[in-house]
Amino acid sequence: MTTAKSTVTPMMAQYLEIKEQHPDALLFYRMGDFYEMFFDDAVAAAEALDIALTKRGKHDGGDIPMCGVPHHAAEGYFLTLIRKGFRVAVCEQMESPAEAKKRGYKAVVKREVVRLVTPGTLTEDSLLDARRHNFLAAYAVVRDAGALAWVDISTGAFHVMPCAGAALGPELARLTPREVIVVDGSEADWAGIVSDSGATLTTLGAAAFDSTAGEKRLCALYKVGSLDAFGGFSRPEIAAMSAVAEYLDITQKGNLPLLRPPVQEGQSAVMQIDAATRRSLELTHAMNGGKQGSLLQCIDRTVTAGGARLLERRLSSPSCTLTVITDRQDAVSYLTEQGRLVEDIREKLRGTHDLDRALSRLALDRGGPRDMAAIRNTIAQAALLPAGDFPPILEQAAQDLKGHDDLLALLDDALVAEPPLLSRDGGFIAPGYNAELDEARKLRDEGRSVIAAMQADFVELSGVASLKIKHNNVLGYFIETTATHAEKMMAPPLNKTFIHRQTTANQVRFTTVELSEIETRILNAGSRALEIEKRLYSSLTQAIVAQAGPLGALGRALAEFDLATALAHLAVTENWVRPKIDDSRAFDIKGGRHPVVEAALQKDGAPFIANDCGLTDAPIWLLTGPNMAGKSTFLRQNALLAILGQMGSFVPASQAHIGVVSQIFSRVGASDDLARGRSTFMVEMVETAAILNQADDRALVILDEIGRGTATYDGLSIAWATLEHLHDVNRCRALFATHYHEMSTLSAKLDGVENATVTVKEWDGDVIFLHEVKRGTADRSYGVQVARLAGLPAVVVERAKVVLEALEKGEREGGSGRKAIIDDLPLFAATPPPAPAQPKQSEVETILQQVMPDELTPKDALALIYELRGKL
Ligand code: ADP
Repeated sequence: MTTAKSTVTPMMAQYLEIKEQHPDALLFYRMGDFYEMFFDDAVAAAEALDIALTKRGKHDGGDIPMCGVPHHAAEGYFLTLIRKGFRVAVCEQMESPAEAKKRGYKAVVKREVVRLVTPGTLTEDSLLDARRHNFLAAYAVVRDAGALAWVDISTGAFHVMPCAGAALGPELARLTPREVIVVDGSEADWAGIVSDSGATLTTLGAAAFDSTAGEKRLCALYKVGSLDAFGGFSRPEIAAMSAVAEYLDITQKGNLPLLRPPVQEGQSAVMQIDAATRRSLELTHAMNGGKQGSLLQCIDRTVTAGGARLLERRLSSPSCTLTVITDRQDAVSYLTEQGRLVEDIREKLRGTHDLDRALSRLALDRGGPRDMAAIRNTIAQAALLPAGDFPPILEQAAQDLKGHDDLLALLDDALVAEPPLLSRDGGFIAPGYNAELDEARKLRDEGRSVIAAMQADFVELSGVASLKIKHNNVLGYFIETTATHAEKMMAPPLNKTFIHRQTTANQVRFTTVELSEIETRILNAGSRALEIEKRLYSSLTQAIVAQAGPLGALGRALAEFDLATALAHLAVTENWVRPKIDDSRAFDIKGGRHPVVEAALQKDGAPFIANDCGLTDAPIWLLTGPNMAGKSTFLRQNALLAILGQMGSFVPASQAHIGVVSQIFSRVGASDDLARGRSTFMVEMVETAAILNQADDRALVILDEIGRGTATYDGLSIAWATLEHLHDVNRCRALFATHYHEMSTLSAKLDGVENATVTVKEWDGDVIFLHEVKRGTADRSYGVQVARLAGLPAVVVERAKVVLEALEKGEREGGSGRKAIIDDLPLFAATPPPAPAQPKQSEVETILQQVMPDELTPKDALALIYELRGKL
């Protein structure tokens, strides 16, 4: 695209100029009702969207590739492109073609990029999951200290926290932002961590991260003299927040979204859970990446989008602060004891709307009258929430539900009951709210009835009973008659009144001075009404946005009520209990269950076997038992209980006592990470190293089959040494599942290690899984029996039994070593069962088997039948 601009059409010159400023984005160039893309953008978009690639004109002697999408359907295309890793620059027409013409015959319509659509800056309802946050994050480093800031522009929530480079991975895993901004030139340092979290990496120049300029920018944004108003921020924190603000400025083209005052989060306040642990526990996403099968989906009983988002936030960041945990528990406890109150509150909550997102759309000028009505209805609905003798969290929330009477009265007066989606066509301001508007509307509507009366007058004057007054966009109002009556109207005296406008195939059209006057009046009144409505719309928007603070508090209060009632509902219906959480080192669960596995079994009508777990005296349990017995389930359920308890929920158990857990680590059956070129074993070792280096004495560690990925003795030694390290150095609480029975001897050597096993029963050569966890060791691994259950051919199972017996015998007798035993094994001692004898085929059958019926003519077929008959 290096051609001199003078050789191209003026429109193409404009396109190229705009495109030059947005080399990294697909340029959606508005032309009438379409967004068009050209050149490489068109080729890429046509492929990504699976739409036709055409051409338009020539450039540099070659065709210009082009593709386009209708502007009203653009949102869906944005989403597809964003999911495929593109970003989109939306270029709009800033004037009508008529306005452009006024500037000169060949003038090109003015166009500007009004917005960059990127994964972290979506606001459209249709592009967002209402029940999930959509975070945009920025990571800044100033003199070796790091900070992470994140915002959800669809709700305005803005947070910041100190974050060392090593902690970035876990934090991103917790927040799962859609897009992460880092400074230009540092991509290589962060690309791996960012893509692991599933986010898109974006870079900004160093200027955006300048903390001095950033402080000024943020002060101006919040209209405060100093950021101290919101807390004491460090340089990296200011730099990260400033990069977020700059990026919003760039992508929203100065139309800044509503940003709530930044809230500082401390790292110690929440339970640390790294990305691998989140994945293996399937907290918010199942292993396959979907929601189905995740803990979040299993426990979500919320009835509002705001409540669902709060649940996701709490579940992703369980608290480590006792007062926070007990306050939340108090709210749930209170509600579980209230019977009908929970249903009453939920009933009212169902009638509320997504306040945060409606507010944010209005602030961004992407909203409409329906968002205003959503806010009005939600305020009114909030006032209907039943009162109660609430514990502190709910009491605070109940306070925040109130105090919006003025705004409610204003919106009640101003808006009709069910306003249209867009403000464009008017019709949303209620009659009686504004006298000027009422007057204009009256004129407009009266004009219409005057026209009806006029038609009657014209019929009388002309004597043409079939005469009609009609309207179209070209002529405006006109009088229409059939050609047969036209002659009379074009002759004196009627031609004084009726002025000929147009003759069509069957009709003739006229106007009169009076008709065009009334038309002007109607049009003027109509456009005046529209103008007044637009003015009122923006003053209502202002009035609403001015209340962003209290409305935000209202949104949070509704979400808090929703979450507390949802958790209470869950606790009552699923029979969960309030765990005792304190700062001891206890971990004592009676009758614990895995909520997701339990729910899955319930569907099949199978019972879930509840199990105890006591790590208070001996903090490490070494769990043995055959595959499929329920080891992983047991391990994970205990981690989930700690997470649920510390997020403030009740837990699936009959009794639970948990001393606050600061970190959870879970490594369950690592799978090959081929995409990153690591073997199962390598992944496992990297992750185990991370645990041994990081776990403190308040951590809860869950290790399943460590060392499985390598040769037996290597694996056993690694598992052995790992357990010793957890016991002696990390001194944490841990559940350790292994199939190396040899390890059970460790419990005799290490005070803090106790053996446990998942029981099975052997019956008639088969194993029956009892799923019961008991103290003690498993007597054998039953691998061969499990293999049989899995459908391994009988011959292989029989052969495996022989090999196993020989190996076990050799070990008992302590002699010859494995190799010698294997050398001694009889070859295929278990001969396959003889194949059932096949009865000999008759000649007729042999012939029939070779016949190809499709290839036989009817005559051949008949001949064949005679032949076969002869053979009997
Ligand atoms: P392991 O880790 O020992 O191979 P899993 O924990 O994967 O075994 O469990 C295997 C299957 O057994 C699960 O998918 C589940 O259906 C069933 N299961 C596990 N624990 C229980 C339990 N406590 N009660 C009932 N069924 C269970």
